[in-house]
Amino acid sequence: MIVDLRSDTVTKPSKAMLEAMLEAPLGDDVFKEDPTVNQLEQYVAELFGKQAALFCPSGTMTNQIAINVHTRPGDELIADVNAHIYNYEGGGISKNSGVQTRLLVGNRGRLSSTQLETAVQANYDWLSRTSLVCLENTVNRAGGSIYSLEDMQAIANFCQEKKLALHLDGARLFNAIVEAGYTEQQVGLCFDSISICLSKGLGAPIGSLLLGTESFIKQARRVRKVFGGGMRQAGILAAAGLYALRNNIQRLKHDHQKAKFIAEILNHQTWVKQVLPVETNIIIFELQDEVNSLALEQQLAQQGIRVAGFGKQTIRMVTHLDIDEEGVHKTEAVLKQVKVS
Ligand SMILES: *Cc1c(COP(=O)(O)O)cnc(C)c1O
Repeated sequence: MIVDLRSDTVTKPSKAMLEAMLEAPLGDDVFKEDPTVNQLEQYVAELFGKQAALFCPSGTMTNQIAINVHTRPGDELIADVNAHIYNYEGGGISKNSGVQTRLLVGNRGRLSSTQLETAVQANYDWLSRTSLVCLENTVNRAGGSIYSLEDMQAIANFCQEKKLALHLDGARLFNAIVEAGYTEQQVGLCFDSISICLSKGLGAPIGSLLLGTESFIKQARRVRKVFGGGMRQAGILAAAGLYALRNNIQRLKHDHQKAKFIAEILNHQTWVKQVLPVETNIIIFELQDEVNSLALEQQLAQQGIRVAGFGKQTIRMVTHLDIDEEGVHKTEAVLKQVKVS
């Protein structure tokens, strides 16, 4: 048995999800004629209390479309240093939209409204125009940390006052929602646009949605086509997404419990220097200086535990719906037997 903890993107569609895909009514979504895509977009828009939604192939695309619609070339956006949009989207902010990024150091990836006050550019000809703030919830690179509703609301109020657009990279937003106990509607009220991923913990094979006002999504639809993301009988994928949203949100709590259990074991190993606090399904830990990180990853892999290197001496593990009790216990056994010379 291989226990693949590299990412929550490695999940395979379940039999029930595949059946839902087989039964989906289909049409050409570029003509807006795919009933299942239309149903998914409406379902998610209503869930978050937004006017409209757009189904896209990836979370990178939904984020990049949002940035493109909210800004003009030469503008500046504000994000935390850990932000996926800055670190893991191939330089897309500058390449796709000609926008520069002002990075702030938040509290494990989370910005505060006070921090934003000093980061917004004044209105001079020689300064870049700050037009957009991007948050991420949960914050992947900071170990799955959760924004509180109060912090999101304070930032939303600040952005409204300063006339800045506010985008949420919610690739793992449902992990935050089930854990923190706020609702989709409450989150929806805070942001001009939200990106959610179906292909992470929710277990769908492909797909993300971008949410916003009717006019925002109209512009986003045009940009999606330009970016090459207009799909045809995409209902086959949307059906998997609908299945995931209807069946796989509440169970994310189990992934969080599993992650906390594994983190606790790591905390007791002498070769582990530090484990970041685990709030959701992501475990990031640092190895003692003398431990060879690559050799350790290989040792784990040889025993069937796959993990992801996350920079020097740092390793990430992510729990998801294809990691069952047996997988957790196998992980426990292997971690307790690690030999470092
Ligand atoms: C996975 C992820 C995305 C989107 O990634 P894709 O692989 O392009 O779907 C965006 N933001 C965060 C924080 C992510 O973890």
